[in-house]
Amino acid sequence: MTRKQLIAGNWKMNGSLAANQQLLDEVLAGMQTAAPRCDVAVCVPAPYLAQVQAYQDRSRDASGRARLDLGAQDVSMHEAGAYTGEVSANMLRDFGVRYAIAGHSERRQYQGETDVHVALKVKRALAAGITPIVCVGETLREREEGMTEFIVKRQLSAVIHLNGHCISEIVVAYEPVWAIGTGKTATPAEAQAVHAVLRAQLKAATEHGERIPILYGGSMNAANAAELLAQPDIDGGLIGGASLKAPDFLKIIASAA
Ligand code: PGA
Repeated sequence: MTRKQLIAGNWKMNGSLAANQQLLDEVLAGMQTAAPRCDVAVCVPAPYLAQVQAYQDRSRDASGRARLDLGAQDVSMHEAGAYTGEVSANMLRDFGVRYAIAGHSERRQYQGETDVHVALKVKRALAAGITPIVCVGETLREREEGMTEFIVKRQLSAVIHLNGHCISEIVVAYEPVWAIGTGKTATPAEAQAVHAVLRAQLKAATEHGERIPILYGGSMNAANAAELLAQPDIDGGLIGGASLKAPDFLKIIASAA
């Protein structure tokens, strides 16, 4: 089965109004010169959602479709109310957000997000019509101890357990923690092996498991993207550092199908 690939930039806590404008100008100019075969999104810090939304409106193609989909980097597990600092799925929806990252390893590590929190965030996103990009991945220690499969399956199964058949609407991102921001990428074979495990888990959970995109993330860059994206179960990338440099991001987009 052929799945359309998705290249999603994760800007993390980077950017400014001026820098974002320049980056978006360059990325869109490149996409106009060479139309991507894949879907493209940028997951931006919450204060910049309005900026990118306005930008998106100015950059629709002839059919009216935005060339760049808008993503958030997190979503609250609560619906509304006394949760200071939180941003709800419905608020994100108000800004035209199509994707929300859920359970990025940096949030699991620094904000203490657990598998249950992530599963609840996925539920809120889905209820608001936002596609969650569910991140799973093992630490270096877990890999060395031979725990990779166990860890990623545990992380994904919490999401499946709470969301049932609705998981056919999610995107999964396999991001080995040891590869994020380190310049160390999983080899295409290493990544494919984990993606195949996740694919089997998704297929066991839903008859639509074959069409759920599974992205790879972790030091994907202009040089290694093509080989990673050529793997049968790698359906795109979640790109951190390289999404902040327009030429690199464009090369990754050009490598996708
Ligand atoms: P990186 O980050 O591409 O900078 O390794 C990926 C991510 O954390 O989503």
